Amino acid sequence: MVDVTVRGAGIFGLCVAWACVKRGASVRVIDPGGVAAGASGGLVGALAPHTPERWNDKKELQFQSLDMAEAMWADVADVGGRDPGYARTGRIQPVGALEIATERARNAEELWKGRYTWQVRDVRDFGEFAPVTPSGLVIHDTLTARANPRKATQALAAALVAKRVEILTEGREDGAVVHATGASGLVALSEALAYPVGVPIKGQSALIAFDARDLPQIFVDGLHVIPHANGTTAIGSTTEREFADPSSCDGGLDDILGRVVRLVPALRERPLLERWAGLRPRARSRAPMLGAWPGRPGHFIANGGFKIGFGMAPIVGQLISELILDGHDRIPDSFRVDASLPKP
Ligand SMILES: Cc1cc2nc3c(=O)[nH]c(=O)nc-3n(C[C@H](O)[C@H](O)[C@H](O)COP(=O)(O)OP(=O)(O)OC[C@H]3O[C@@H](n4cnc5c(N)ncnc54)[C@H](O)[C@@H]3O)c2cc1C
Repeated sequence: MVDVTVRGAGIFGLCVAWACVKRGASVRVIDPGGVAAGASGGLVGALAPHTPERWNDKKELQFQSLDMAEAMWADVADVGGRDPGYARTGRIQPVGALEIATERARNAEELWKGRYTWQVRDVRDFGEFAPVTPSGLVIHDTLTARANPRKATQALAAALVAKRVEILTEGREDGAVVHATGASGLVALSEALAYPVGVPIKGQSALIAFDARDLPQIFVDGLHVIPHANGTTAIGSTTEREFADPSSCDGGLDDILGRVVRLVPALRERPLLERWAGLRPRARSRAPMLGAWPGRPGHFIANGGFKIGFGMAPIVGQLISELILDGHDRIPDSFRVDASLPKP
C-alpha cells in the first residue's frame, strides 16, 4: 500500500510525486511508456516568465514556481545524484517599444520582489550570441532559467527512486490517485466528462551543436533559443492544432530553422543534431488544470501544462501535494478543473 499513486511519469507527475515524498508520503508512479514518454521527453526547456505587467493568478504562481525551481532542482540533483541541467542563466530579447520595456523594468522591481531584474541593455554587452535588434537594445531578465527536459526528468526519477518510490509500467492504484497523463489524458478526461476540456497541440523543435552553455537564452520573434549545459542549443517551437502524425517533423520546423539563423547569426552553419515533435497538453482554460476529478472521489488531475509545463511543474507539485495530503486547497479559480468546464 502507498499513500499516493501517480499516473504519468512526465514532468507534472514526477513533480507531484516529488512534492508528496518531500511531505513524507509513500508514492508509486505508473506510466506504461516509462519516464518522459510524452511531451516531457523533448529538447527545449525554457523556464521563462510572462511579462511583468497586468499581474494575475497565473503570473503570480508562475513567478513562485520559477523562483522555487532553483532550490528544487538542487535538491533533486543532491538526492538522486544526477544533473538536471538546470541553471538560472537569464534571457535576452530585442526591445520592441522602448517605453513599454522601461515600464516593465519598473514593474519587475515590485512584482519580482526585488530578487530578479528586467533591464534594457545594449546588445553589444552580450557579444556574438545575441539576436538581431534594429534598436541595438535588448531586454535582459535574470529570472529566466533553463533545464534539459530529458536530463531533468531522469534526475527527478533517480531522486524518487532514491526515496524508495517505485516507478512502474503497470501496477495497482492505492491511496489518492493523481492523473498526470498529459495530452492523451486530456482526451480521456474529455470523454469521461462528455465535454472537450482540453486538446493536444503539436510542437516541433530541434537541437544543434552550438556551445553557449553559460550565456543567457534568447527569445526572438516567438522563437526560443536555449543553450544547454552539454554544449548543445535547442530551438523551438512550432504550434499545430491540426496534424496527421504527432511525432513527425516537417517543413514547419525547416521554416523555424531558416528564420532562426537570420535572427541569431551566431547559429549559422551549425550541425543539426536532432529534430523532435511532441504533443502539448492544452486545457480549455489554457491554464494548468488542477484539482479533484469531478464525481470520482479520491482521484485528482494535474494536467494542462501546455507551453510552460516545465516552468509550472514545481508549483503544480506543491499545490497538488497540499491538496491531497493536507486537505489544504489553495488552487486559484483559473487553475481549477471547473475553469475548463461549462458554467453551471
Ligand atoms: C516542442 C515543445 C516545446 C516545449 N517547450 C517548452 C519549454 O521550453 N518550456 C516549458 O516549460 N514547456 C515546454 N513545453 C511544454 C512541456 O513540454 C509540457 O507542458 C510538459 O512536458 C507536460 O508535462 P506532462 O507531465 O503534463 O505531460 P507528458 O510529459 O506528456 O506526460 C504524460 C505522461 O502520462 C503517460 N500516460 C498517459 N496515459 C496514461 C495512463 N492511463 N496511465 C499512466 N500514464 C499515462 C504518458 O505515457 C506520458 O509519459 C514544450 C512542449 C513541446 C511539445
